[in-house]
Amino acid sequence: MAAQFVEKIEYYLVLDFEATCDEKRTSRPQEIIEFPVLKVNATTLETESTFHTYVTPTVHPQLTAFCTRLTGITQKMVTDQPSLLKVLEMFDEWMVKEKLKDNPNICFVTCGDWDLKTMLPGQCAYLRVNVPQYFKKWMNIKKVFSRIMKCRSFGMAGMLDKLNLTLDGRHHSGIDDARNTAKILRKLLKKEPNIQPTTVLRY
Ligand code: AMP
Ligand code: MG
Ligand code: MG
Repeated sequence: MAAQFVEKIEYYLVLDFEATCDEKRTSRPQEIIEFPVLKVNATTLETESTFHTYVTPTVHPQLTAFCTRLTGITQKMVTDQPSLLKVLEMFDEWMVKEKLKDNPNICFVTCGDWDLKTMLPGQCAYLRVNVPQYFKKWMNIKKVFSRIMKCRSFGMAGMLDKLNLTLDGRHHSGIDDARNTAKILRKLLKKEPNIQPTTVLRY
């Protein structure tokens, strides 16, 4: 069997999008309304920098009451914020500033595959723009959690609980979800350093 290529990860980029929604999950096209990313040093496990902005939805600018109840994101927090196209530019500039853009030794970390497999590619297709290359490699922390902890995968609250960590802030707030995901990541990296991506898209 060919040896699997193992890369030395230098930075984990913990990302958790929030998006427009309603209780019936019929909000189409879904649009990103919160875009938080934490730059976690894989050696020190410190968060060295944070990219965080709310995003104004353009197709359905009005948030539903359900969305505000679920995420804590109010109409005021998204109105007059940049659109996703502008935010993708701002994020790219942050990637350059943080010397991450052309660094092959980075890996996004998400809770589930939805953010980078469904949400971002779906909205980029709708907007007719390419998905930036760096978003095509990520680690789904739920899969890694169940492999390392040898148990079925739980949701975020269940994983925190199993690792004796507290759920800080508000679940379904993007920045709080990202911070809680980073706590799970740190604990798993102490058990197994250099955790590898779970998905690498080749397109
Ligand atoms: P999360 O990262 O778990 O907070 O979820 C990301 C996005 O998925 C949310 O911003 C919503 O758009 C959608 N979502 C999550 N949970 C629900 C739910 N129970 N009902 C409808 N949409 C949801
Ligand atoms: Mg999420
Ligand atoms: Mg979230």
